[in-house]
Amino acid sequence: MKNVTLAKQLYIIFSVIFMTSCDQSKVTVFSNCVIPSFPEANSIACADGKITSIGNDLIGDIMIDLQKGVVYPGFMDAHLHLVWYGKAMEILDLVGTKSATEVTHIVANAYDGSKQWIVGRGWDQNDWEEIQFPTKEMLDMVAVDQPVYLHRIDGHAIWVNSSVLSICGIDRDIVDPIGGKILRDSDGNPTGVFIDNAMDLIKRFVPDNSKNDKQRQIINAVRKLNQFGLTAIHDAGTDKETVHILKELIAQEQLTIRVNAMLNDNSDDYKEFFTKGPDITDRFLSVRTVKIYFDGAMGSRGAALLEPYADDPKNIGLNLTDEKIITEKVNQFNAAGFQVAVHCIGDRANRLALDIFERSGNKNSRNRIEHAQIIHSDDLPRFFDLGVIPSMQATHCTSDMYWIDERLGEERLHEAYTWQSLLQTGSIISGGSDAPVEIPNPLLGIHAAVTRQDTNGWPVLGWQPNERMTIDQALASITSWAAYSMFAESYLGRIKPGYMADFTVLSHDLSKIDPAQIPSVNVHSTIVNGKVVYKQ
Ligand SMILES: [Zn+2]
Repeated sequence: MKNVTLAKQLYIIFSVIFMTSCDQSKVTVFSNCVIPSFPEANSIACADGKITSIGNDLIGDIMIDLQKGVVYPGFMDAHLHLVWYGKAMEILDLVGTKSATEVTHIVANAYDGSKQWIVGRGWDQNDWEEIQFPTKEMLDMVAVDQPVYLHRIDGHAIWVNSSVLSICGIDRDIVDPIGGKILRDSDGNPTGVFIDNAMDLIKRFVPDNSKNDKQRQIINAVRKLNQFGLTAIHDAGTDKETVHILKELIAQEQLTIRVNAMLNDNSDDYKEFFTKGPDITDRFLSVRTVKIYFDGAMGSRGAALLEPYADDPKNIGLNLTDEKIITEKVNQFNAAGFQVAVHCIGDRANRLALDIFERSGNKNSRNRIEHAQIIHSDDLPRFFDLGVIPSMQATHCTSDMYWIDERLGEERLHEAYTWQSLLQTGSIISGGSDAPVEIPNPLLGIHAAVTRQDTNGWPVLGWQPNERMTIDQALASITSWAAYSMFAESYLGRIKPGYMADFTVLSHDLSKIDPAQIPSVNVHSTIVNGKVVYKQ
């Protein structure tokens, strides 16, 4: 009782100070909750979007009963694709298809004989009974006169039909661009699959997403992300139109997630910000990062490896951007106050990016490597030494573990998804989902991080289980470490007075349940800037 009284008195004193300094802002108290980082407290008071105090039985102008929910700092996704995720909800969903034939059935259903492009995403030949890239003829059988354009699950390959090839003027004379690959038959004719930079030959003919389309896709995506408990995201490749839409939504007080935009490496998209310098004035949107692609992905054998693929001995993968150009860009962007995030999946891409960051010497820029999937053991300590942040996605490990041994061979498997080895060198890891490549449910990410098993409990001991994270590390990767990787560690990622009032409220304390149960935990509510933006 004595403690309660003291807490109340302290609260009243604090409130008086706060309310005089903040123009009599209303105080919202989230009560009747469990706070793992403050086991003695049961309520959190907030005003003006910020936490003002944490204590017992606090009283405010607005009282919100969290019904014994467990309150975590707001979960962040440090790498996803916002517009693409919203768009994925509107196009053909091919995730989980078991054969090329199943995909063609879905396309046949969408076929209406018009000139409108049939667009879809999510196929993955690694999941099919016959593990082979599909061909344009398969699509021609169900839609010969209507363009069909289907993204592979990772966005690093597309599968199109003959109608698209004729619209784009592509025949056997077309040359593979640098950093790209066109699959061909024995006569040199394109078979309908285009990898990495070769996708650009087609992409520019795809009808544009209008600004209205983009706005709707962003709003739908954000609603869904809030349902998953997310309060902030890092958008891995933002165009300037998206930045403007986000600013409009902020002005209308409609944006219910914080966005750290990583601008596309395309002067049209970054020029405007480059001249003005980083835009970090609004805590709902920060624009201070540029994202560059260095290599492709494992699934389509575009990741740049030091030694050839075990299942394709003449192939060491693709460099999508020239090393010299990346070096120049890192220096230019860092000098202008921008962080650089480089997409690197293979061990060769990771090593070269670390070499570039080492030469640039801009430790304070907090440059990042997105994915950092395959790292040679000699390069592990270099992340910490150079202040380079590995930004990794735990569910990539549990999606790839079924076939990655074929790509890498047994002797390189220890290089894959080396979370604990990186953490042991002193590095942090910012955690994300890469949605829509994976589902952006942070509970699935935490489960994958602490078990390295799929949701059916396979493999029994976990895949390369020595690289698992602890539950505290997994939580840090999507809270305080994700905040650090966007320069927001002084106001995001913790439950502490002065920090933004962003919370993910769960039905269970994750450290007190069997890790196998984590995917079935419920999100009770999501709170952003002191407001409930989702309630179950
Ligand atoms: Zn991505």
